[in-house]
Amino acid sequence: MQMVRFERTANELSQEAIASLAREKSKANGTCNTEEVNAALQDIFYGKCYLCESNNLQSCQIEHLQPHHEDPDLKFSWENLFLSCTHCNNLKGDRYWPILDCTKEDVDEHIAFRKEGYFGIPEKLKFEPCDSLDETQNTCALLNDIYYGTTTQKQIEANFIRKKLREELSGFKNLVRDYTQAHGKQKEELFHTIKHELMNSSPFAAFKRWLIRDHADMYGDFLDCWKPPIA
Ligand SMILES: [Zn+2]
Repeated sequence: MQMVRFERTANELSQEAIASLAREKSKANGTCNTEEVNAALQDIFYGKCYLCESNNLQSCQIEHLQPHHEDPDLKFSWENLFLSCTHCNNLKGDRYWPILDCTKEDVDEHIAFRKEGYFGIPEKLKFEPCDSLDETQNTCALLNDIYYGTTTQKQIEANFIRKKLREELSGFKNLVRDYTQAHGKQKEELFHTIKHELMNSSPFAAFKRWLIRDHADMYGDFLDCWKPPIA
């Protein structure tokens, strides 16, 4: 999951989303799929799927972190609503619970996101738990299913996500390589570009962060640069 951390900030968009959910909850056939909710979720999640970390989604849906089973308290709870792509929403359903909440936890600190394989060596994505929490284990299982698919059709969709991931990571690796060879102003500019690539708004940021973590001896300049400064 993505999964990096998103802040459910209390801004005007989220206030409007919460108000619209209260209105819908009081109706007989209310929906959480309102214009206000969609606008606020797009804002919080930077238009990214909170599960696979794809951006520029052609098709997105509102996902309930905890399956609501028609319980209105869960169905209309703002805290329980997440932005996801159709692939991830359909695949998750109500089959994975409990999982890590990326608005409350840094998921990439519970799970190592790694992509192995290059020329001649088959590609393999690995989601390795860093602790023994049930939430972490379930999230790893979900991520594996998302990136590899559970049915023939889902495997085709997963191939597209992995292709996007491969392209993103390859661009990211080039930037980091260029950085190590650059000097002066060019190096400074590359530093800011790479830092941006490691932020929550960036697609597949969890994989990019683990590339840095796993090669901290070479790329220590970027270690933890995605974390908010300590006040
Ligand atoms: Zn997704």
